Amino acid sequence: MHGYSHGVSEIVVMKFGGTSVADAQRIKRAAARIVAKREEGKRVVAVLSARGKTTDELIAMADEVSRAPDPREMDMLLSTGERISCALCAMAIHDLGHRAISFTGSQAGIVTDSSHTKARILDVRADRIKAALEEDHIVLVAGFQGVSTTSKEVTTLGRGGSDTTAVAVAAALEAEECEIYTDVEGVFSADPRIVPGARKLDAVSFEEMLDMAASGAGVLQLRSVEYARNHGVKIHCRSSFSDAPGTVVIEESETMEQPLITAVTHLTAEARITLVGVPDEPGAAARIFDALADANVNVDMIVQNEPTSAGGKAEISFTVPDEDLRIAREALEGLIGDAFTEIREGAQMGKVSIVGAGMRSHPGVAAKVFRVLADEQINIEMISTSPIKISCVIPREQVPQAVRALHEAFELQAEQTSGIGR
Ligand code: ADP
Ligand code: ASP
Ligand code: MG
Repeated sequence: MHGYSHGVSEIVVMKFGGTSVADAQRIKRAAARIVAKREEGKRVVAVLSARGKTTDELIAMADEVSRAPDPREMDMLLSTGERISCALCAMAIHDLGHRAISFTGSQAGIVTDSSHTKARILDVRADRIKAALEEDHIVLVAGFQGVSTTSKEVTTLGRGGSDTTAVAVAAALEAEECEIYTDVEGVFSADPRIVPGARKLDAVSFEEMLDMAASGAGVLQLRSVEYARNHGVKIHCRSSFSDAPGTVVIEESETMEQPLITAVTHLTAEARITLVGVPDEPGAAARIFDALADANVNVDMIVQNEPTSAGGKAEISFTVPDEDLRIAREALEGLIGDAFTEIREGAQMGKVSIVGAGMRSHPGVAAKVFRVLADEQINIEMISTSPIKISCVIPREQVPQAVRALHEAFELQAEQTSGIGR
């Protein structure tokens, strides 16, 4: 099947997140787990994240020396975290009596576009990984990074990007499975840090997982789920601290249970921008959002209200992740007096969403969401819906309360729904 691996065992990709390689003990534990898989007869490629809070610390270091760190240099800096993990893990594997070799993203053939700090993987040229596997090495690939096709620069893939590295490598190697080892037992009906009684999902459809990842379930990076769906990669998200089965992400099937709501997700780092005095004419919104797209800003929810009087001006509000706020502002400043008259920045916002494929066929879910939030005295600032998701922008400090209330109102707790079998 793989050509080069005639008669040879299947390949498994194992990805370990930051918490799973945070200190020496955990690196050794990951190494032991990788070796155990090899000894089961699999060929193993492990993708590692930076240790613990390393990436956050590197970002803080950059902010200490520069007001607006240069994106190319940012990627040179951030990509080091994952290299450290891989080199250390290779050493630990050597001590367990196995051959292992670590590669940077570039050495592993991870080719991306050139958008620094949010690059997209374009191709995985896995020859070097394949050759190392042939030589009976366990291969360690530094997650979250690649090399751009055009400029040959080091790039990084955005926060959580090691998940996408793992899936892309699994696709290129036609691996049997891509295991994502993390600090929770799988994908839950809400972030277990906020809802301790959240329920682990045994399986979740790509469709739901895409909406969940996009609305804050950071356990899998959104891009990794898209990539897995496009390339038919089987993702198994599980705990690096236990052997319990985790969550598999699969194509939706007839036999799958379809509860009304599958999960409540949230984001707490949203900023709202309101543009005042937008002329009510064709092309106004296009100019604004072209400028944001050119600056590679991730625009999330967009709301425009129609001017009430003839010849009046409209207002457009939208949200962006906090980390994109500065770039968004810079991109828009040039349009003041042309595409609008004033930029206003909203207070600290957050977003709560409910996701569920069963919602499609059940009216009244939105009304229930609004009722629950009203009962909690939470003011909804913006609303958006898709066929299987309802999202509300709310004050940031009320997000945990909103998540708990919705999780409870839709009866997603582990106790009450156990046995339903998803
Ligand atoms: P890693 O470093 O292993 O990639 P992350 O921190 O990126 O780990 O992702 C795991 C975290 O995602 C969990 O600790 C959990 O707090 C958070 N999380 C948010 N939403 C969910 C969810 N619906 N299910 C599981 N975990 C979630
Ligand atoms: N280390 C990177 C981050 O913290 C990538 C990852 O962990 O997936 O975002
Ligand atoms: Mg992650």
